Order: sequence, then structure tokens, then C-alpha cells
Amino acid sequence: MTHSTPAIVILGQGSLATARRIQQVYPTAQIHGLAGRVEGADCLYQEFGATLRALYQQDTPIIALCAAGIVIRTLAPLLLEKGAEPAVLAVAEDGSAVVPLLGGLGGVNVMAREIAAALQVAPAITTSGELRFGTCLLNPPSGYALADLESGKRFVSDLLAGHSVRIEGAAPWLDQAQLPQDPQAVRSIHVSSAQRMASADELLIYPRSVAVAVSADVTDLPDVVRHALQAANVAVPALACLVAADTDMASTNLRQAALELGVPLRFVAGQSDLQALVRAAVPGANVVSVENLAVAIAEQPLEVAQIGRPRGRLAVIGLGPGAAELMVPAVKAELARATDVLGYETYVRMAGPFRDDQVQHCTDNREEMQRARHAFRLAAEGRSVIVVSSGDPGVFAMAAAVLEALHESDDPAWHSVDLQILPGVSASLATAAQAGAPLGHDFCVMSLSDNLKPWAIIEKRLDLAAEADLALAFYNPISRARPWQLGRALEIVAQHRAPQTPVVLGRDIGRPGQSLRTTTLGGLTADQVDMRTMVLIGSSTTCTFPRTSGGEWVYTPRWYGEKPLS
Ligand code: SAH
Repeated sequence: MTHSTPAIVILGQGSLATARRIQQVYPTAQIHGLAGRVEGADCLYQEFGATLRALYQQDTPIIALCAAGIVIRTLAPLLLEKGAEPAVLAVAEDGSAVVPLLGGLGGVNVMAREIAAALQVAPAITTSGELRFGTCLLNPPSGYALADLESGKRFVSDLLAGHSVRIEGAAPWLDQAQLPQDPQAVRSIHVSSAQRMASADELLIYPRSVAVAVSADVTDLPDVVRHALQAANVAVPALACLVAADTDMASTNLRQAALELGVPLRFVAGQSDLQALVRAAVPGANVVSVENLAVAIAEQPLEVAQIGRPRGRLAVIGLGPGAAELMVPAVKAELARATDVLGYETYVRMAGPFRDDQVQHCTDNREEMQRARHAFRLAAEGRSVIVVSSGDPGVFAMAAAVLEALHESDDPAWHSVDLQILPGVSASLATAAQAGAPLGHDFCVMSLSDNLKPWAIIEKRLDLAAEADLALAFYNPISRARPWQLGRALEIVAQHRAPQTPVVLGRDIGRPGQSLRTTTLGGLTADQVDMRTMVLIGSSTTCTFPRTSGGEWVYTPRWYGEKPLS
């Protein structure tokens, strides 16, 4: 049974050692520690209840190191809703007890056994069928699908009540189970891809052993596939994947059909028709042509990963400023599915930890075009590639370089790649949020680096933006190779703006050792700034006032000129 990466949630320092032992079972799992109580966790949370409920709703398996009652009370409001049901376990702080609570079909008992083995205790398994038969009949291994959960539950209680069972078809995973088998039994576990109405005495399990070859130009493709399966006497859940010619790789129609049918889409090169295609994809299978599709029916579940190759994917992602809480969920999901991660070493490290099967390609910060081309070469092979940027990938970062590389290329394989740009919280926005709302009205974002643009353009833009009374956000304000430019930039701004104008300096915002200071344009000197600093300069209306907690709030009002009547 495969399950997605769990979250390990702890409330106190005393649980950290046990959490680390559990983490050895799930190396990509992060330890979430309560802010102010736990030091040395992988990430911090502020509120236990909200955190646990959010994880649950995102379908993340939860291992909570606290009393089972706390977990139950916290999740109770969500349990009546239909929707995600991830595995949820409570583990005693000292590792002496492992209690699977929820998510029987999410593999909670499998996890309980794995964790208990690592902690050298016995898991508190309470599921009767599982205890009696040593396996959960309703949770067959990947490669198999249960026809119907409700009738399955009835079937398992019949067996628990003492009825015997026979197995029809190949169910190798049940060899180890202690089932009350009897060849004469009335009840049967029936394993096959054939479409049939389950009788009351049957537990129907479909092996995902069928592939359908499709072409991109068919309308209503999901319905056509369902009809073809029906005509071939195959149950829809037995469908393991769709296969298509690699020339159809960029087809939206195919992608949406696969999504709707809930199966992967694989591509095969160099076949003249769908029959040949599906034979090449599933050698030795029984092939049936129905309407304009070809259906391959194998005996065993298909090893989909071995069939042709998937459409390659290239995602250019923004990590946000650094803190895990400020990374958007779509980026987290992308990191989990990636096979290859490319980027400047610091950012790749920030995006981790990665699994052993994920390849990290670290490069120098300056080789951006090379990195972009490398990413396309990998993605065109069918891999799932991530190019990492800090902040937002579209703000002085890799997204434009990746698009430039694609624009320059006439390789159809590159243009067939599923390219996604996933946004992040940019440094100017993360810094502004900590200071208050200095960018609360119109503002202008500039990079002061003259590596890729003439300094004269920078001066002109600064002059016009300052004259236009826009608040200013400076990226790349200074570096060892560009020592004088910031001073010159400030001179230009000072020609249009008063020395009392508020200035915010954010350094390493959202990262360890972050610092935020407010000063004024008159008080700002280049030595207060380095390449890890974000410089925000107010407009004529930007103002400040003290915060009770120390320091001051900085904001730029939403209005301009006369304050509106409220
Ligand atoms: N794509 C990034 C910007 C890359 S340019 C983003 O959207 O944030 C690099 C510049 O961004 C740095 O020189 C610095 O000015 C700023 N920067 C990036 N991360 C920062 C952080 N955590 N704190 C303050 N400034 C940061």
C-alpha cells in the first residue's frame, strides 16, 4: 500500500525524539512543532486545532504525538462531512503506544504497523476483519480496485460471523491472509476485469489490467472509452491507463479524458495505428478493437510505469521568501511529484528535503539559460522536472528564462512538455506584509542590477517612477560587483522625495535570522543594505506610527490627495 507523505505533529519538546524515530520510517515527512514550545522542528505552527484540520482537509496523513482524545475532539467537526479521509494516528509522546484512529481505507493500519515496528511496540489495531484475517480485504493493494465498499463491508462481517469463502481468479496478496477458505463455500472473492453484477455472496475486485489506445481527435472521449470497455465486457475500474501516440502528447482532449477517467496517460512512439500501439504498449495482451479504439486486456495488473512514457512536465516554482508556511500548496504538491529538481544550490536546499529517488541538479546562480535548456531536455524525456526560484518565479527569476529557452527552440518535444508556472510570495510582498502596508497604493518594482540591462535605463526608470510618486521596491539593490549603483539610485529618488520619506529594509525575510528595520530616505546609506535585502521606499503619502509591541507600522493609504469622508 502506498500512501502520501504524512505530517508528524508535536506539541512539546518532549516528543521530538520520538518524532525523529518516526521520521526515519517516512524520511520526507516534516515534523510540525508548536511555535514557542518546540525548538528544532522542521516547521512551526501557531495553532494546533487549525493546523490539524487543515492537514486533514488536504488529505495529508497525520501522525499526532499526543493524547488520542485531543486528536478526536479536534477533528470531530470534520468527520461528518464527506471528503478526504486520510490516515490519522495518535502516538504516545514516549513512543510506547501507536493508535490508528481514522482512515482504514487510507492504510492507517499499515502505517500503524510500520511505526510500531520502528518503535518496537505492538500497534493498537482494533479493526476486527484485519485482526482476524491479517489483512484488510477492503483495501486491496495498488493494481486492484474494490467494486463497492458498502457491499464489501457486509461481506467482511459475514466472514467474521463465521462464513467461509473461496477465491476465484488470481489474488496473490491473499496467499498470506488467514481467510476461512473452503472450495465449496457459497461466498466468493471474485478477481477479474470482466464487467459483472456482483451477487450478494460476492466480493468483486478488479485487477487494473486493461489499457485503451486512443487518439486525440475523438470527441466525448471519456464516454467513447466507457462504451468501448462495455462492448469489450470490461469493468471501468479495471482500466489501468490510456495510451496514445507520442505525436498527440500536447493534446488537451487526451489530458482531460484521462483526468476524468482517473487514469494515467502514457505515450508510445512510432506506431501506425491504435491496434499496433496498444500491442506495443501491452505485449501479449488480448486485443479487441471497438469502434475507433483498441482495448488490450491482460491477465495481471499492468505495470503502468513500464508502458511507453508519460508526458513530461516542467514546473517553474516559487518557494516564497523561505518560511514553509508561505509556500503555496500547489508548489508543495509539485515538489512531491517531481523526479528532478534544478536550481541554484541554496534554493534547491531550501525546497527540500527530497526523497532518494528525486534527482537534484544544483547549478551556479548565473547559468540561467543553460539550466532552462537542461530542464527542457529532461522534461522532453518524460520526467517531471522542477526549476526552483525563491519568491515568485516570474519576478527577476527563472520563469522568463525558461520561456525564452522554449521560444528559441523549434524542437516539438520541448513544445509538447506540460509547462506550468507556479507563483510564490515575492520578497517585496513578504517584506511589505511584515512592515504593515508600505505598498498599499500604486507602486513600482525594479531590479537595480545592471547585469542584463544598461544602467542608463535604470536611471531613467528611477527618475520617472520617483517623479510619478510611486512607492518603490528594489530587488538586487547592491552586490560586490555593483558597489556604487544603490547610492546613485538613492540620489535620483532624493531629487523627488523628502528626506523623512519612510524606508523599509527587509533582510532574509521568512528565513532564519530575518531582520526588518524602518528608517528614512535621509537616514538610508548603502552600507545598511546587502544583496539579501529588500528595499522599500515610500511615496509622499506613506506614513508611520508606533506599534505597541515595539517598532512601528508603515503604510501607504489607499487614497490620494484629499482623505475621503468615511
Ligand atoms: N524571485 C525573487 C527575487 C529574486 S531577485 C522574489 O520574487 O522574491 C533577488 C533579490 O530579491 C535579492 O537581491 C533581494 O533583494 C530580494 N530577496 C529575495 N529573497 C529575499 C528575502 N527572503 N528577504 C529579503 N529580500 C529578498
